[in-house]
Amino acid sequence: MACLVRHLWAISSNSSSLWASWVRPYQLTYTSLWDIPTSIPCSWAWRKVLKIRTKVAQHLIVRPAGVYWGDCVMHKFSVKKVWETLRDKHEAVQWFPLLWKSFGTPRDKLLVWLIILNRIATLDKVQRWNSAVINLCPLCSSEEESRDHLFFGCAYSKRVLQAMFAGRDVVGANWEGSLANAISLFRMKNTVSERGRLLWVMVVAELWRERCRRAGEALSENQLLKKLQGLLHLLRHGFPQVELAVSEDYVSSIVLLSLV
Ligand SMILES: [Zn+2]
Repeated sequence: MACLVRHLWAISSNSSSLWASWVRPYQLTYTSLWDIPTSIPCSWAWRKVLKIRTKVAQHLIVRPAGVYWGDCVMHKFSVKKVWETLRDKHEAVQWFPLLWKSFGTPRDKLLVWLIILNRIATLDKVQRWNSAVINLCPLCSSEEESRDHLFFGCAYSKRVLQAMFAGRDVVGANWEGSLANAISLFRMKNTVSERGRLLWVMVVAELWRERCRRAGEALSENQLLKKLQGLLHLLRHGFPQVELAVSEDYVSSIVLLSLV
């Protein structure tokens, strides 16, 4: 909508832009911009511009001194300023830094974002759409699958998470508890927390991918841990500011993150 407001501003401020110069003689010959009914036959784009007038009328005000946005004259259109005024404002969620301030890849962060919002197609949801589906967790094959079970009620994912964060209390009594633990443990603006956020996002994303792979060729728990170890090795060379020390001996499956 903020971008559409630019058109209203261009017309109201008598901008010399090509579009505004075309609109004035063709659309505004006999009437004001604010009096044109939206029901008239017109293009899809022009109708969109007309429809937002009521939403921005209280902010976009034409005065002799110029075109105002709120209390200030807007000599130059600012999408940011308009967007800040029109957008719905909410308090930042507690997990914001854990996810969006991690060094995880955009692909991983997008996936983990969906997991946090519980928008992934876990079998408990699929079963509601199709009762013929058998709900059995592909990771542990012993309990029903849900977002909360996978992260980290499942014995498999719990072991993987505990192994990757050796010595850290990352697993809670339930999903909310585990998420709260990660938020609390890796909340600081230091290298240790940065490493923790990166690793947490990576582990959650990789667990979900492994869950999805179970329909095809599955990895054993040690194979998944070795894959995560390999990813850490790549990150160590790809992100020099995040130096991750990885144990070559993976018998104990412990990553030496120096988290303490
Ligand atoms: Zn399970």
